Amino acid sequence: MRTDIWSEFLLIVKQEAGSRVVDTWFKAVSLRKWDAATNTVYLQAPNEFVKDWIQSKYMLLMQTHLGRLLHVSMPRIMFTEILDGADAHATVVTVQPSEQSPISVVPAVSQAKSSHELIKRAHTFSGHVNHAYTFDTFVVGPNNSLAYAAAHAVTERPGMIYNPLFIYGGSGLGKTHLLHAIGNEIKATNKDATILYQTADRFVNEFISAIRFDKIHKFQQKYKAIDVLLIDDIQFISNKDQTQEAFFHIFNALYDAHKQIVFSSDTVPNNIKGLAERLRSRLAWGLVTDIYVPPLETKIAILKKKAESMNGSISDEVAYFIASQVDSNIRDLEGALIRVVAFSSLTNQAVTLELAQKVLASTHKPQSMSVDVDRVLKCVAKFYAYDKEQLTSKNRNKDLSFARQVAMFLMKKMTDKSLRDIGVVFGGRDHSTVMHAVSKIEDMMRGDDMLGQTLKKMEEDIRV
Ligand code: ADP
Ligand code: MG
Repeated sequence: MRTDIWSEFLLIVKQEAGSRVVDTWFKAVSLRKWDAATNTVYLQAPNEFVKDWIQSKYMLLMQTHLGRLLHVSMPRIMFTEILDGADAHATVVTVQPSEQSPISVVPAVSQAKSSHELIKRAHTFSGHVNHAYTFDTFVVGPNNSLAYAAAHAVTERPGMIYNPLFIYGGSGLGKTHLLHAIGNEIKATNKDATILYQTADRFVNEFISAIRFDKIHKFQQKYKAIDVLLIDDIQFISNKDQTQEAFFHIFNALYDAHKQIVFSSDTVPNNIKGLAERLRSRLAWGLVTDIYVPPLETKIAILKKKAESMNGSISDEVAYFIASQVDSNIRDLEGALIRVVAFSSLTNQAVTLELAQKVLASTHKPQSMSVDVDRVLKCVAKFYAYDKEQLTSKNRNKDLSFARQVAMFLMKKMTDKSLRDIGVVFGGRDHSTVMHAVSKIEDMMRGDDMLGQTLKKMEEDIRV
């Protein structure tokens, strides 16, 4: 597989940060190598200045998008030796998906000392576990507290409590993060533990190439020697009968030896199609726990933490705004934050609410989706048989308050108004009141399917 990942990446940077950034900084950089075994991307910059600038400003951007293009999460980004001379661009990018390949770092210019250093550094990263994903950087909220607690328990007594641990949930909600966090935590307390993080996809490929090259025995030996096996997105093993068969034996061997196994998936074992029954039942042998969409407060906490890790901080107001723009997915939430921060640093402006609104206006909540606040107010009022004026009044009658909270919730969901704007609609209420209403309705919906359906119906009415 030879792909020009870098030019695809440049297109994304152009969209995210503008063509000026691409022309000034990224065009002069080339991708020298992608080492799947260490999850490391090696770049080459034309000079120290460009390298430092990119490193300090665009690390997260590179990790996020190169990771996406390479189908890995948060790769490490390293720069090879600076090349002086014209052939800085004359590089063919080779993508090596084979995770079995021994770490073979080939810096563009092999000056003995620095390449040794590179190799040494690459080796400190083992078992595909990404150091950036730790428990420390994971924000715990009601949506993930069970999965978090279970993951943590597993690190205290690997193989003994929940085995296997099965974490499921929608895309971008932190499953992969938790798997890596388990790996990192166990590694920190037990240096000698053999830990392997592997996506089911890569497991399948590895298995196929083991068959092709007659290395099945070696393949099995490798897996059976593992102390902690973290398999991400296990659903991708569906309909791969032979791989399932091989995995079944590996599972049994590890399980019998009290080795910890952790899975993530987009759904419960019972819903994974094309899975052999005996494997399916084993997936559910231990603890099955889910992660669901975070409530607003958790989204805000995540944003603030991410901003800090990007060496900046954002005000509550900006965090509320970004959180209210992204509905369901933490990956998208991060993407929105990155766009805002990238734009602010590019244009040398502070991260204000206005700036965030401007940056996100074009990308989130497409026009067709966004409706008018008055329309929401009217429909909710009609549904609960109140006047619009009653809804926006200060009257705290219990039923009326509930209807008001529903209206706030739907406004947040369906319009592009900020919490503050919505507060204004309701007679100048504070943004925190609106936030409280939104999370309350979210909470209630989780325990009450009827309410969910009612709100869905109301949404349809509002859109008509
Ligand atoms: P999934 O594997 O469920 O699709 P990921 O684990 O890849 O999702 O998470 C997507 C992004 O969101 C990652 O960058 C991850 O660090 C971040 N993320 C998810 N949940 C949290 C959380 N609770 N706290 C901090 N970051 C989170
Ligand atoms: Mg994942």
